Order: sequence, then structure tokens, then C-alpha cells
Amino acid sequence: MILSQNTFAQDTSIYDKNQVFDPLFMTHDGTEFRSANGAPGPKYWQNSVNYNIHATLDEKDTLINGNVTINYTNNSPDELKYLWLQLDQNLFNPDSRGAATTLVTGDRFDVKGYKKGGYHIQSATVIYKGKTYKIDPVITDTRMQLRLPFTVKPNGDKIDVKVQYSFSIPEYGADRMGRLYTKNGVVYQLAQWYPRMCVYDAVKGWNTLPYMGLGEFYCDYGDFDYYVTVPADMIVAGSGDLQNPEQVLTATEIKRLTEARKSDSTVFIVKENEIGDKSTRPAEKGMLTWHFKMHNSRDVSWTASKAFIWDAARINFPSGRKGISMAVYPVESKCYDAYGRATQYLKQSIEFYSKTYFEYPWNSAVAVAGVALGMEYPGIIFCSYRIGKANLWHDITHEIGHNWFPMIVGSNERRYMWMDEGMNTFINGYASNAFNHGEYGDTTNRSILGMARTMMRAKDPLMTPPESMSLRDYGQYYSKTAVGLNILRNSVIGPDRFDYAFKTYIDRWAFKHPQPNDFFRTMNDAAGEDLNWFWKEWFYETWKLDQSVKSVKYVDDNAANGALITIENLQQMALPVTLQITEENGNRNELKLPVEVWQRDSEWTFKYNSTSPITSVVLDPHDELPDINRKNNTWKSK
Ligand SMILES: [Zn+2]
Repeated sequence: MILSQNTFAQDTSIYDKNQVFDPLFMTHDGTEFRSANGAPGPKYWQNSVNYNIHATLDEKDTLINGNVTINYTNNSPDELKYLWLQLDQNLFNPDSRGAATTLVTGDRFDVKGYKKGGYHIQSATVIYKGKTYKIDPVITDTRMQLRLPFTVKPNGDKIDVKVQYSFSIPEYGADRMGRLYTKNGVVYQLAQWYPRMCVYDAVKGWNTLPYMGLGEFYCDYGDFDYYVTVPADMIVAGSGDLQNPEQVLTATEIKRLTEARKSDSTVFIVKENEIGDKSTRPAEKGMLTWHFKMHNSRDVSWTASKAFIWDAARINFPSGRKGISMAVYPVESKCYDAYGRATQYLKQSIEFYSKTYFEYPWNSAVAVAGVALGMEYPGIIFCSYRIGKANLWHDITHEIGHNWFPMIVGSNERRYMWMDEGMNTFINGYASNAFNHGEYGDTTNRSILGMARTMMRAKDPLMTPPESMSLRDYGQYYSKTAVGLNILRNSVIGPDRFDYAFKTYIDRWAFKHPQPNDFFRTMNDAAGEDLNWFWKEWFYETWKLDQSVKSVKYVDDNAANGALITIENLQQMALPVTLQITEENGNRNELKLPVEVWQRDSEWTFKYNSTSPITSVVLDPHDELPDINRKNNTWKSK
């Protein structure tokens, strides 16, 4: 006897179990480079690259003049006849591919906005086995090829590359760098500021996808030794450790920094009323060179301005090591709810991620208020100068969270944007929950209903590369990935198994280059669960979820004998089932069914040991799944 039927339950299901539980998905064997368990294989290699950079800020002409020496080690098993370098500034050349593919109406990256952009390469030379060769570079959009008159040998051979260059600093550098005009001077944010090596890897060979705006970066690891020369009245903050404080800071500033290194509360290095004061600079005129070093990083960036307030506090790492968290910002950003708390937001984010996931490997980090809305670099983040409170917290914890993905776990952002944006957004939720007893609230679950709406209209799966992703859909890289990982953690395998596997992935791939399958395989292997159905439906497809309660019957028409509840999967996505069942006698129970019930078919009937008539059955009672039609989630007796 059917007691009642939900009005939506007669919708016909489009579910095909063989699409989800697809035996042909991810079937290739592991290789000696990438093991079947998702770890780097016994012959995994990557090339290493050290940079020595000297750059001068020419404020009058808004130029950077620089030269870079790159020590490149070819650890690959291949001979290299040519090298490829990335010339990111060429995005701002009016003829760039990024400009050509920007909508007439413009977009967030605004790469059509700057007419003087692009690198001027004055010279390129290579030094190999003691001999110097001048090379005529072949420049194609944001890439530069150096064709060599010899081959770099496999398995550890070395070559030095020297490039002399300049570029005009765009005002709005694709939301990743640029210039901000403030009351007390310009804030320069310098990134993508030196020619750098493309990655040569065992997956694609040379990775030469152009920089076009949305797709970010893919870089090898190495040591950076860099010198930036700026007018003496400016303060510089950069990635890594300042090497020459006694040359660029005053005795007072050095003393205050020493104090900050011992203080959990924020200490001013340059106060608001000291901005522009001659006493804050060791030289009144001319230029000063700031020297920084950063060990085992994939990039470095820096900022310079005479408009900065500067404050700092100590970072406490789990190992007992100490570091320093800093913020530099113009007076426009100063009030307590804005940048006055930036150093603390940064410090507490780093402490949380270090404790929960992987210890931050560097000694310093700095948040810079400027023109970019939010952009991450190793040890330095650029945040919008005009946000405060919760927005600034979320911006800072997100941008510094990128120091785990992709700065530590070095995925290829240009192809797989979900691997950095999504994993980062996922960990940001937990950092926000933990910050100051939840001052800025729980962001892990609130987005599920919005996620269902997003998934309804999404046309592109998460695996779509950034330059092919619909500009309407690219928010999915952040939200859909984070929601998916939360579902996996909280509704599929549970926090303990998820966290262990997720940390295994971080440990295995720290300072290396994971591919999507390395993540999927590590999660499968370390959690001990074949999650291929989830990887396929969540990352490779745009399927939707619609679970419904179809019917409730009683054994021999008697509720005391137990109930037969039938649920149905109407759309193509499959996820585990949570039901809340309430009986007339007041009993309320929650029941979980594994995803495997959907390996049977689109309909599943199970026995529930009722003792009195059931008054309601509710699917997904805690709003954990992005069900696109919640009306058929509830069955009620008439
Ligand atoms: Zn991001």
C-alpha cells in the first residue's frame, strides 16, 4: 500500500549507474615517475632553478630595469636542445593573446588597458662549461625560446642563463601587480617582474601555455638572491629574508623589528605620523638597494612605497621556530578594522595552516595593501587597500593560504586551477572557523544551497583549463572544489580518514609538481577507498544531484512490523544518503546509506524498523549535499 506519494517523485530518473561507477575511469598503471598509489615514483625528477636578480625602480619613467642570472639544472632524462622562459609582462603588450581574447567590454584582468606594456629584452646569453654564448631569443607572446648551439645533457647537467631586460610597470597589472596612487605616494607592487624558466616535466615536456590573464603560474623550485634598488625615501617589503637591514633601515626600525620578533601583539615599525619623515630613512637622497634571499621557493615578489605604515608581530611555528608577520599599508587603509589587524590576520592564518597541514617553511610573511584585489606570492600577499573587517580577514587568509597551494604543493595552476584555488578555499573555511573563536563565522557549510544553484547552470567541469572556462563559471574552481572536498570529508569518508589522506598528499608533494591523478590516487590509497566515482562526477562532469523519497510502505501493512522506504536518484550524480525518520510515537532516527546503494540502480528500497506509523522522512536533513530540488527530499504522511 502506498501511503503517500511525493508530487516530485514521478519525475523520471536520468541516472545511469555505469556512468558513475565507470570501470574504465583512471585505469592506467602507475609509472616509475608517478606511482599507482599517488606518490612520486622512484624515478620522479624535476629540474631546479636558482635566480640572482638585480632590479632598479625608475620612478620617473615607471620602469623596472633588471638583469637576471638563472642557474638551471637539468635533472630530466632528456637532452635539452633549447630552453623556454616565461615573459609574463608580455601580457600587457597591446598585441598579446590575452588582449586579443579579452571581451570588448573588458574583464577583471583589464589587459587591454595598458599600451606601453611588455618586456624589452636587451640581451640573452648562456654560459655553458665555461663558455659564453650570445643567443638571439625567439619571442612568441609571453614565451621566449633560447635555441642552444649545444645540448644540455640529462641527469644533472647545468647551464647559466643571463637576461638583461626592462618593462614599463602597468598601473593595473591583470589584478596581480601594479601601482596605486595614494595621498603620500605610489604603492608599487612588483610581480611577474623577471624572465623565468618554464617548467620542463615528465608530463608535457616544456610547459609553454601562454599567460593570458586568468590562468596563473607553473614554476620550478630553487633559491632566490635578489636586490631591488629604489629611491631612498621608500620602504621595501619582499619575499624572503632581508639581508642588509643596517643599510636600509634606521637603528630605531631595527630595534622595533627586534621587539616585534618577540611580541605576539602588533608592534609598529613605521607609525602613521612618521610617514615621509626623514628620520625614518637612513639616507635622504639617492637610491638604496634592498637585498633579500629566499630558500626553496618557486617565485619572489616585492613592494615599494614611501606611503607605508609598517607593523609586525611574531609567528610561532609548531616546531618551536619563530617567524615574523608584517603588514605595509597606506594611511587610506589604516583604521583598526582595516589594516590595523592585517598582521594578526596573517600571523594567525599562518599559525593555523602550519599546525593543521604543514609547517610554513619560510621565516617571514607580509601583507601589502595596494591595487590588486587579492594575489598571492611566496611570503608576500597583495590585498585590496580598501577592504576591512571580515572581507580583509577572508582576503588575507585566502592569499596566504596559497602559500600551501600552490607555493608548497607546486601544482600547475595554468592547467588545473581547482588544485590551488579549490584546495586553498577548502582550508580557508577551517581557518575562518578557528579564527578568534569564530569571529568571522563558519564558511564551510553555508554555501551548499548556493552551490546547488551554481551547479544547475554550470557548463564547464572543474578540469577545464582556466582559459577555456566560462568567465561566469570560474568561481567553481574555488567553491565547487571546496564543497566537494567537504562532502568527501564530512559525508563520505569522515574527517579522520580524509585528513590523514589529505595530509599524506601535502607531505608527498611538498615542493614537487603533482598532477590531478596524483591527488586522486593518494586520496584513494591513503583513505583506503576507491573514490573514482567521486573524482569522475565532481571534477570531470557537470552532473547534478537530485535525491528524492519515493514511497513508504509497511510490512504486512502494519507499521509495527517495519517500513519499506524507497528512495530514488533522479539526476546523474550519486552521493551517500542521510535520512531523518520521525514516527508518530515521537521516535526520531538518523540513518546513513553508503553511495554503493546507487551501484544497484536509480531506486533503492530498504527496511526501517519502525514501531509506529512514520510521519516524515527527510533526505539530507543538515543541508550537506547540493541537491538541486529540495522539495522532493521530504516525505510526509497525509
Ligand atoms: Zn586564490
